Amino acid sequence: MARVLEGMYIGGGWSNAAKTFDDLNPSDGSVWARVPDAGREDARQAIEAAQAAFAEWSALPYTERSHYMLKVAEIFEKRQMDIVEALQGEGGGWFGKGMFETGYVPEIFHAAAAANYTAIGEVLPSEHGKVSMAVRRAMGVVTVISPWNFPILLTARGIAFALAAGNTVVLKPSEETPYTGGLLFAEIFEEAGVPKGVLNVVTCSRDNVAAVGDELIENPYVKGISFTGSTAIGRQIAAKAGAHLKKCCVELGGKDSLIVCDDAEMERATQAANFGSFMHQGQICMSVEKVLVHEKIFDEFLEKFVARAAKLKVGDPGKDKGNIIGPLINDKQVGKVREQLEDAIAKGAKVVLGGGINGRFVEPTILTGVTPEMKLYQEETFGPVVPVIPFATDAEAIAIANDTEYGLSAGVMTQDEQRGLAIVNRLETGNCHVNCSSVNDEPNVPFGGVKASGLGKHGGRWSTETFTETRWITLERGGRPFPPMF
Ligand code: NAD
Repeated sequence: MARVLEGMYIGGGWSNAAKTFDDLNPSDGSVWARVPDAGREDARQAIEAAQAAFAEWSALPYTERSHYMLKVAEIFEKRQMDIVEALQGEGGGWFGKGMFETGYVPEIFHAAAAANYTAIGEVLPSEHGKVSMAVRRAMGVVTVISPWNFPILLTARGIAFALAAGNTVVLKPSEETPYTGGLLFAEIFEEAGVPKGVLNVVTCSRDNVAAVGDELIENPYVKGISFTGSTAIGRQIAAKAGAHLKKCCVELGGKDSLIVCDDAEMERATQAANFGSFMHQGQICMSVEKVLVHEKIFDEFLEKFVARAAKLKVGDPGKDKGNIIGPLINDKQVGKVREQLEDAIAKGAKVVLGGGINGRFVEPTILTGVTPEMKLYQEETFGPVVPVIPFATDAEAIAIANDTEYGLSAGVMTQDEQRGLAIVNRLETGNCHVNCSSVNDEPNVPFGGVKASGLGKHGGRWSTETFTETRWITLERGGRPFPPMF
C-alpha cells in the first residue's frame, strides 16, 4: 500500500497541490507514495513564507539556531530504522547504505551547529587607523535542489549550514525521492519545533520541474541557490543564476579514476576498486568509473578484483539484507547503462565479469579493452559497470584520469606517499584520496568538483562561506583626512 503523506510543507503548514504524482519503489515498480505535484505558484508561496521567516530567524542568538540543529539531529537518530526502511523502499539502496546515510546525517547537523561557534569575520589592518572588519552574515532565502542517490545526506548537506547561518530555505527534493530527500525533513523540523517558514518543502514531478525550478532561481527574494545533480541541469541552473547575479553552488557529475600503482597494497587496492565501483550500484557522483592499473600488476589485480566483485549479491535489498546490489533508480538510468555497455562491446571491449541486466537490476560488470572512442570511457555511467585500463607510467595514468570534462574526485593506491602526492598534484579534481577509493566524504571538509563537476563548495566552514555574504565594515576614529578643498 502506498505511503500516506501529509502534503507539502509551506510556512509551517501542510498543503496539497491540485495533482499528485507517483513515487515508485525501484525494486518492484510498485507505487511507494503519491506525492503533491507543485506548480510555480506553490514555489512562490514557499519562497514568500521563507522570506517572512527570515528576519526573526536570522536575528535569533546563534546558540538558539544551533540548538535547533542539534534537536533535528536527535530526531534523525531516534527515527533511524524507519528512515532506513524508507530509503530502501523509495530509493532502492542496500541496508548498509541506509545505515551509513542515516548515521552520517546527524553529523552534518552537529557540524552545522558547531559552525556557529566559530569566527564570523576578521579584523583587518587599516591605513587610517579605522576599525576595519570583514563580517559574514546570512543572505536571506536560499533554495536547495537535491538529487535522489543519497537523498537525505545530500539534502542535509545543502540545508544544514545554510539554516544554521541564519538563512531560511525552500527545498525541492528529487522527484525520485520526494519523501526521504524532502518531506521527511519537514516532519522532523516540525517535530523539532523549528519556527514556521524557516524550512519549506515543495515537491513536484519532472513535468513541472522546469517552471518550479525557474521560480526557485528567479524570484527576487531568493538570494542563493544550492544545486546537486547532473551536469546538464546544473549548467542550466548556474547560467540562470548568473543572469540574475545570484550566488550559486552546483555540485555535479563525475568520471572518477582509481589509479593503482605497481607498489600498491593489492588487498586494499582491490577493495577500494570494488567498493568505489559498486557501492550503491555505482550511483554515487564520486564512484570509481575508471580503474587504471599499472601494467606490471594488471593481471594479478584483475583476477583479484573480479573475484571480489563476483561475491556481491544482486537483488531487492528491501527483502534481504544480503542483497548488496539493488536496482538502478529508474528505467531511463538502466537504458543509459545498457547503451554504454553495448557500445563498448560493439567497439571491442571484453566483459570479464557480469554484463547481465534483469529489469532494473544490473550485475556488477567489469570490462577490459575500453578505449577513448567508447561512451563508457567518456560519459558518466552512474551504474555498476567499470573498465580496468592498463598504464605504463605515472604520467600516462594522470593523462588518462584527466582525459574527461569532469573533475570531482580520484583515488591513488601506492605505498609511497610522496609518489601519491606527486600524482595528486597533477590531477584535475576537487577531491583526491591517497590509498583510498574516490568515494569519501566528511561533514567538515571542502567538498566540491572542478571542471564540469561543479562550482563552489559544500561542507564545514566552506558551506558557511557559500551561504553567507561577506561585508566590509569600518569604524572611523579620526584618522582618514578628506582633501582640504572638500
Ligand atoms: P538531475 O540533474 O536529473 O536532478 C537533480 C535535481 O534537479 C532533481 O531534484 C531534479 O528534480 C532537479 N531538476 C531537474 N530539472 C530541473 C530544472 N530544469 N530546474 C530545476 N531543477 C531541476 O540529477 P539526478 O539524476 O537527480 O542525480 C544524479 C546526478 O547527480 C549524477 O550526475 C551525479 O553525479 C550527480 N550528483 C552529484 C553530486 C556531487 O556532490 N557532486 C552528488 C550526488 C549526485
